Amino acid sequence: MSTVAAYAAAAPKAPLERTTIERRAVGAHDVLIDIKFAGICHSDIHQVNEGWGEAIFPMVPGHEIAGVVVEVGSEVTRHAVGDHVGVGCMVDSCRECDFCRRGLEQYCANGNTMTYNGVDRRGDVTYGGYSQQIVVDENYVVRIPDSLPLDVAAPLLCAGITLYSPLKHWGVGPGKKVAIVGLGGLGHMGVKIAAALGADVTVLSQSLRKKEDGLKLGAQDYRATSDPATFTELAGKFDVIVSTVSAPLDFTSYVSLLKTDGALVNVGAPEEPVSVNLFALIGGRRTLAGSMIGGIAETQEMLDFCAEHDLGAEIELISADQINTAYERVQSSDVRYRFVIDTATI
Ligand code: NAP
Ligand code: ZN
Ligand code: ZN
Repeated sequence: MSTVAAYAAAAPKAPLERTTIERRAVGAHDVLIDIKFAGICHSDIHQVNEGWGEAIFPMVPGHEIAGVVVEVGSEVTRHAVGDHVGVGCMVDSCRECDFCRRGLEQYCANGNTMTYNGVDRRGDVTYGGYSQQIVVDENYVVRIPDSLPLDVAAPLLCAGITLYSPLKHWGVGPGKKVAIVGLGGLGHMGVKIAAALGADVTVLSQSLRKKEDGLKLGAQDYRATSDPATFTELAGKFDVIVSTVSAPLDFTSYVSLLKTDGALVNVGAPEEPVSVNLFALIGGRRTLAGSMIGGIAETQEMLDFCAEHDLGAEIELISADQINTAYERVQSSDVRYRFVIDTATI
């Protein structure tokens, strides 16, 4: 066991404060990672606020982890001391069910172990990336290609894979018209990845405030959803729409923007349910779907893809004492486009 510095929320909605946590001794299949950078995902905020239901406190959030391997267990073969590595939203799963065998560990039939706010297979509470070190089974650690700086790579471990997985699954590529709803942490990676896959990308944002950025990130078009004309002009135009919005949305209007046989894939995780008029789906044989992060092998594929296309996140690097301010800014959609904590400041 070792004691490491971390930032934790002591109770639901409490501000994050410096504390210390224990990390387990490095087992035969474990790697010890010196965390260099940790992204702030809106999911961290939902969970600190207990917006998704009962959570475990104290909570050390953080599932966008980039760092360097400093020790490996005796049986480790995939990683070596000095390697640049990442950890995302999962640190274990059953490894036996159909989904685990197919590389879909995020949908593990026996439940995956979340990087934080979870209980691992030993019965210990998990603590995330807002900390200086973490011990993780080598099979749930991915390699960060050397050409990707660790600070801009960190957000790929959640924001990157959460967009890459559905874009691939729903066949996004040349000739496809794609809309990304919400230009935040997830959304801006969605624009970059969909454009790199060769699709024609439109951003649907609340206002035109970030239009210039959206076009630079690779979008062809950028529309304000506060303008009713957006919904009449773009009706029936898209093959795939991915919504990354963290709040309840009027999905009926967005579904109407799909072509016949189009799909709206929701990855946003608002705290309240939404209602949809199903006639919007029936009419065009449209699909309303969801998607959760991505498997371990696919996360590696995404990192290699991002390295090949030189895609890192657009980040604002902060020190640990700025986490609470960053949370407020994310909640008011004031983020361009991911806050990343320099963990040396913890
Ligand atoms: P974020 O950086 O806050 O981005 C969300 C964006 O949604 C905002 O930047 C804003 O974009 C838009 N938005 C916010 N409130 C809105 C409202 N009331 N109406 C319309 N649009 C609004 O958050 P994130 O980190 O990208 O995460 C987004 C959501 O995905 C969160 O709910 C998070 O928990 C969830 N998530 C899901 C998965 C998964 O596996 N499915 C993984 C990670 C995160 P504009 O300013 O451009 O309008
Ligand atoms: Zn996340
Ligand atoms: Zn499983």
